[in-house]
Amino acid sequence: MISAQEARNIILSSVKPLSTITVSLARARHYAVAEKIISGDDIPPFDNSAMDGYAVRYGDIKSVPIELTVVGEIGAGVIFQGTLQQNEAVSIMTGAPIPDGANTVVPIEFTEQTDQSRVKILRNVSFGENIRRAGEDVKRGSVVLDVGTTLRPQELGVLAALGKNFVQIYKPANVAILTTGDEVIDMENPLKPGEIRNSNLYVLRGLSEELGCEVVDLGNAKDNINEIRQKVIQGLESDALITSGGVSVGKYDFIKKVLQELNAEIKIQQVNIKPGKPFVFALLGSKTIFGLPGNPVSSMVTFLHFVKPALLKLMGRTSEIESDLKIKATLVNEIKKSDGKMYFLRGILESKNREFTVRSTGAQSSHLLTSLTKANCLIIIPENKDMINAGDKVEVCLI
Ligand code: AMP
Ligand code: MG
Repeated sequence: MISAQEARNIILSSVKPLSTITVSLARARHYAVAEKIISGDDIPPFDNSAMDGYAVRYGDIKSVPIELTVVGEIGAGVIFQGTLQQNEAVSIMTGAPIPDGANTVVPIEFTEQTDQSRVKILRNVSFGENIRRAGEDVKRGSVVLDVGTTLRPQELGVLAALGKNFVQIYKPANVAILTTGDEVIDMENPLKPGEIRNSNLYVLRGLSEELGCEVVDLGNAKDNINEIRQKVIQGLESDALITSGGVSVGKYDFIKKVLQELNAEIKIQQVNIKPGKPFVFALLGSKTIFGLPGNPVSSMVTFLHFVKPALLKLMGRTSEIESDLKIKATLVNEIKKSDGKMYFLRGILESKNREFTVRSTGAQSSHLLTSLTKANCLIIIPENKDMINAGDKVEVCLI
């Protein structure tokens, strides 16, 4: 059986980003940029004042106090006409361009206006202080964003500063979700003996929507090979198909059979993890198929560990795959295992005395949906660790 790491490698190397489109900057948030952004301008575009104060010649204020003649006032957006001469100052506002001849700004707090056109400099500042230099933030011609960077509000701000009102992005993925099971019913119907409500649909849809995917809900298929085949074919109209249930070794587990019939290339059938061992990954043409186990915890864990990075890759969001944060925390309660699997335990991560601690949410069976609502992280226990004592460090990922 392959390891979680091997499974992730197979998935990430099989999935390629979808095509690209150009959208207005106002609609670009959350997508990955599909073009290398090279700055056509300096930011800031000109030397400007970082403070409200007086633009001066440094040579004039070396020994203080000293009185200077105020020869003008410039607000942001205004250009001073002329060149500052010896013992002159210009009243300047934050963001206003530095006048020719000036090389230093004295903050207003370090000055005293003696009359309409005189200012006394009370304290010295160093040469060039309080001037924001042209290109200090971004140099013209430099790479500002690499392909695959997700556009968060701050990236949008940089693109706006560069005047980039249209940007090429990777398309969001369409994701079809199909749950399976004779026992699974919609919540509109009364629960009959032996039936359960379809919680996985809401979890998987929520997780997909959180990633910015467009979700197509295919509903629930009974454990009937014809019904499953028909819905899977329908699901293949989307970029990715996620199924829940029917991937283990039970008599009515038909997902793999249907995928084989359709000539999909099944690349993964089982992974050495708990929960989530019967996880299927398949390709059919350009379509990506994920068969998740039906148990609610297994289905969420396999989504987070395998489907999420794949969907991010489909949407070109490589920066997020690479910055997948893991936190080291001190384990509160000991953990024992003996089956050589990688474990994903539901945990509660807390920050106490500037240190992260993590404890298990309690019982960990894969049918316990509320173990996920209590948790804010998954504790990851590697395959080769059988015993982890209280006080040892473990790795967790936030959920
Ligand atoms: P399966 O993977 O089909 O063998 O299902 C494993 C377990 O998950 C069974 O107890 C199912 O009843 C349960 N299950 C399957 N699908 C769902 C679903 N959509 N929502 C909640 N539980 C499910
Ligand atoms: Mg089933």
